[in-house]
Amino acid sequence: MMSRFLCYNQYMQEYGKLYVVATPIGNLEDITLRALRILREVDYVLCEDTRTTQILLNKYNIKNKTMSYHAHSSEDKEQSIINLIKAGKNLALVSDAGTPCISDPGVLLVSNLKKELGDKVVISPIPGPNALISALSASGVSAPSFTFLGFIPHKKGREKIFKEIANSDKIVAFYESTHRIIKTLESLNTHCPLRTIILAKELTKQFENFLEGKPKDLIEKLTEDKSLEKGEIVVIVKLK
Ligand code: SAM
Repeated sequence: MMSRFLCYNQYMQEYGKLYVVATPIGNLEDITLRALRILREVDYVLCEDTRTTQILLNKYNIKNKTMSYHAHSSEDKEQSIINLIKAGKNLALVSDAGTPCISDPGVLLVSNLKKELGDKVVISPIPGPNALISALSASGVSAPSFTFLGFIPHKKGREKIFKEIANSDKIVAFYESTHRIIKTLESLNTHCPLRTIILAKELTKQFENFLEGKPKDLIEKLTEDKSLEKGEIVVIVKLK
């Protein structure tokens, strides 16, 4: 037991750490003091899009090196990141908005790091904004347990998922893009016309808005006022 503990400390000195850092989902003030310190102190910040993260770094006058890491990064890129950690460099992983790895890039890097370095590597979350939890927190929905679907597939399996939502005895929440919201509401209208839907839109931003109604009412609202269709959306399907 004792030797294992010593071993772990040894590795901690040898390898760098990966911090999984949550960043704002809109309002740049939504960042923790710890996240800012980590972004300042690490050797590199791994960004989904370096231009987006640079806006945040500039706001807080953080002058640090950035490196891109996204869904289409090559295996070579990933290996070079793992090699940096092996060489003792500390890295912060951020996505464009919210918590990395939650419907965002990073999961592969984290799982491959664990595969390759096991418990020799420290991977530490720096908690902060997340669109799903923000939406639920101000929705007025009591959700002791809920189902989160991430993004619903565009084609294959789409209809099956809507059938499952209709039959679910839990609140269901998912992420949706502005381009597909009407199509999604139409599917909800087909499969569960009597369930109440909340659209949590543009959270923390200037045009933050919670719209609530049956799928058919929301289709009408969004069709009447095209500006409502725009922006980022979390969809919550209530039980009735
Ligand atoms: N990792 C992020 C998180 O922690 O919430 C989610 C990233 S995912 C690629 C982007 C989706 O999250 C958007 O399509 C939208 O459904 C949702 N989203 C992100 N920011 C949002 C916001 N400010 N308001 C509402 N939904 C948002």
